[in-house]
Amino acid sequence: MTTFDVVVLGAGPAGATAAAVAARQGLSVCLLDRGLPPAPHLPESWSGRTLPLLRGIGIGSVRDAIESSTSVRFLSADGRFGMNVTIEREPGCDQPMVVRLDRTRFDEILVGNAITQGASFRPLHTVTGIALGDSGRPATVTCSTPQGGAQISGRYVVDATGKSALLAVQLATRVASAPLDPRQAVFCHFTPEPGQPLVVPGTMTIVGIEHGYVFVIPLSRDRVSIGVVVAAEHCAAYEDITQMFWGELDEAACLQDLLAGADQLLPVIPALNAEYRSTTFAGDGFVIAGDAGAFLDPFYCDGIDIAIEMGVRAGQTAAATLAAGDNAAQAAQHADAYMAWVGSLHERAAEGFEYHRLADGQHGSLLAGLADPHLPTVLPLAALLQHAGASPPDLATAPELVAAARDEFADR
Ligand SMILES: Cc1cc2nc3c(=O)[nH]c(=O)nc-3n(C[C@H](O)[C@H](O)[C@H](O)COP(=O)(O)OP(=O)(O)OC[C@H]3O[C@@H](n4cnc5c(N)ncnc54)[C@H](O)[C@@H]3O)c2cc1C
Repeated sequence: MTTFDVVVLGAGPAGATAAAVAARQGLSVCLLDRGLPPAPHLPESWSGRTLPLLRGIGIGSVRDAIESSTSVRFLSADGRFGMNVTIEREPGCDQPMVVRLDRTRFDEILVGNAITQGASFRPLHTVTGIALGDSGRPATVTCSTPQGGAQISGRYVVDATGKSALLAVQLATRVASAPLDPRQAVFCHFTPEPGQPLVVPGTMTIVGIEHGYVFVIPLSRDRVSIGVVVAAEHCAAYEDITQMFWGELDEAACLQDLLAGADQLLPVIPALNAEYRSTTFAGDGFVIAGDAGAFLDPFYCDGIDIAIEMGVRAGQTAAATLAAGDNAAQAAQHADAYMAWVGSLHERAAEGFEYHRLADGQHGSLLAGLADPHLPTVLPLAALLQHAGASPPDLATAPELVAAARDEFADR
């Protein structure tokens, strides 16, 4: 059995990044995934904040994975007042901004880069067991494969298996954690009747309601996801999430036609909201990166950036630890430094969950997080909601309102 320097479990953004970093340092790297790329994935939002990190590991451009334009339509609950925001991809793109990402293509680019940097990629390898090494003994990773099975040996292990969180489960360090985001999100899928004006491919609709908002996201020609996001304390008024979903939708008068003729395809589902966190992210011969260590909720929309940042650090920590040879004290120092850095990363992420009521006007209210990557798009809506009177606001004054809201926000 060949012994690799580093075995990376999981080829999502965290794992593919860690593998590329370690391979660029001249280490032999094996990158495993249970899937066969490209894995099917729903589109996600991306701030582009980690683009310089991707450039630093050899990725020239991710342009292919960025959808050319996306529209967001904001509506008041009665549908009388609204605005459309079109997010255009800038020519030459790559400026950090919130974009809609084709995650399937994005992951394919990251894995392709890890291979270019020298990592050996093994798809269709489902990890079923990890025997961590000690005292310089390599770890052994056991996988099931279409051919029956495989064992792979590595001097260092990076666990980037996402919500499988293999090492944290095995080490019993995965614990439930209180949600960071003080909101609750529930959603359901529907087949709408043809010709519904609020179901436009590529356009997401946000309807402001008293305690949060409703989203309408067309997933395909005959499937639409409708979700409700409200302040968690407001949910206590309901017996369960199904009652909450329908109760809040009642407020959105502009959606009643769409709902009346639609077939409900699923029960109402709660979105996973920061439900776990590992108490350790590094130890003798291993680090944990990305969602495998902690899940920060989906509507925060920063999971990809966090996974890439952790992937870079994980690859660097693997290289530094292996360079220390059999110096156990130095290896422990690298693990401690990694743990401290992950702690600071999560503290920074948690700041994004400090929500402020940006608007509380006659046409609706709006909560937004301090570090919300969607802030640039949400600010104009906040300004208009706040200042709209009984009749729709004069859009000619929108630029001044937006500038005033931005200044007000900057003071918080
Ligand atoms: C509904 C939803 C919406 C989201 N929207 C956004 C968004 O808009 N923007 C954003 O930035 N983030 C979003 N996120 C979060 C984002 O998807 C994750 O934070 C990100 O994918 C984490 O990357 P990762 O590499 O840690 O894990 P993953 O991307 O989950 O990758 C883990 C990899 O490990 C593999 N794996 C798992 N178990 C095994 C095993 N036993 N053996 C081998 N391989 C295994 C998987 O196949 C997978 O390829 C959303 C999440 C959800 C659930």
